[in-house]
Amino acid sequence: MNIQPVIIPRAEHPISRSLVSPNALRVLYRLKDNGYTAYLVGGCVRDLLLGREPKDFDIATDATPNQVKRIFRNCRLVGRRFRLAHIHFQDEILEVATFRALAPDSPEDELESPPSAEGEESRPRPPRHLVSDEGMVLRDNVFGTPAEDALRRDFTVNALAYSVADFSIIDYVGGVEDLRRGVIRTIGDPAVRFTEDPVRMIRAVRFAALLGFTMEDATWRALLELAPSITRAAAPRLYEEVLKLFLCGEGERVYQLMRQTGLFGHLFPRFSAWLDRETDGFPHSQIGKALEWVDGQVGSGEPVSPPLLLTLMFGEFLEERAEELASGGMPPQESMNAAVAEFLGELAPLVSVPNRVGVVVRDILAMQSRLRKIPGKRPQGVLARTCFADAMAYLRCRCAVTGEGEKVLAWWERYARESVMPPVEAGVGEETTGQPRKRRRRRRGKKPAAS
Ligand code: ATP
Ligand code: MG
Repeated sequence: MNIQPVIIPRAEHPISRSLVSPNALRVLYRLKDNGYTAYLVGGCVRDLLLGREPKDFDIATDATPNQVKRIFRNCRLVGRRFRLAHIHFQDEILEVATFRALAPDSPEDELESPPSAEGEESRPRPPRHLVSDEGMVLRDNVFGTPAEDALRRDFTVNALAYSVADFSIIDYVGGVEDLRRGVIRTIGDPAVRFTEDPVRMIRAVRFAALLGFTMEDATWRALLELAPSITRAAAPRLYEEVLKLFLCGEGERVYQLMRQTGLFGHLFPRFSAWLDRETDGFPHSQIGKALEWVDGQVGSGEPVSPPLLLTLMFGEFLEERAEELASGGMPPQESMNAAVAEFLGELAPLVSVPNRVGVVVRDILAMQSRLRKIPGKRPQGVLARTCFADAMAYLRCRCAVTGEGEKVLAWWERYARESVMPPVEAGVGEETTGQPRKRRRRRRGKKPAAS
């Protein structure tokens, strides 16, 4: 492939080495000193150019994974689908990937040897690039040139590289211009790129919302057209993507875009149908407000756990469903269990929420009725539950959104504060967990109450 990139020299861009992780610089220099090409690539270059703090610093090189391993003692090779080198530092793991190519044009291309071929790595390899009947890429592990590596990426703004050889930015796809204009544009034909990997549609939404960018026309049209195909992506991957989407700090904006594009309805059909209906003449607007609350937490550096996020998003629906089941005669705790199990079970073929997360969602919701009783029986037992903090956060958000439950919330907050035992009061040899001691149970072998 012979595409000439636009090179933006150091004097014409704002990325200074002081903004780059010192470990990343070390790795880049070491690769360069060993005769390899090495770039910072992907999201970190985009973020540095926008004046945002990158989440991580990814490196791409023409050294093969084995060659990288030979240079760095603190290196481990990972990944079965494509081999990556992880360079371990005390407080950071850096990912070093060999330049890769996407769809090769002919089967011969699939036998391509690595760019800096040597020894065992120059042997022809079996095809590593598979495409499903519907055009979805199933495996892509073909070494490529820097140009190919840029072109296989999803969006122009994610395909920029920063070189330590001369501190320039290398742009094969017009990414710098799109960054300047605030545009999310797929590299190549958007319909083809979204078909190869439907998750790119969700990524387009995430970056548009997070960066406050607009979508380029053709990208937007293809997204609207292909939104139903999001269900072809693997359900466990979609779960991970959904978390990234709604925890990115702009979850409310993400939500609006997901609804507008139809992606939300395809991922959460039953919940969406419920959102479109009203309950007692009121529209269901809590999810938007809950996501604003989540954005506030993320913005102030307060982590929101995956089960808490899911409970905040779907809690109103689940509580209503549990009430429905209870009014049909099911015991209250059982009805919440059933409502959550039914919802997550139906969702599993689309977005598969791990069981351990589902259990906490149920516990957070089940605890709400207990929290409403103050002080109730054995409040210290409530405090000792592992989901107490998330259950309180759920209550806090509900209170902020609806104005209900202020008194209850204040009581539990005070109770939790006052129940923390200072270490001096603890007996010799006792652990101080920061939580009140549980009363020892007399009877053994009795099952704990279901919650
Ligand atoms: P974030 O700040 O959320 O980490 P990012 O751009 O770094 O954003 P990653 O998921 O970490 O996103 O991926 C790193 C890079 O890999 C992207 O910038 C993009 O160039 C490329 N990439 C990731 N996922 C895809 C995909 N599905 N298709 C094509 N390229 C992708
Ligand atoms: Mg990243």
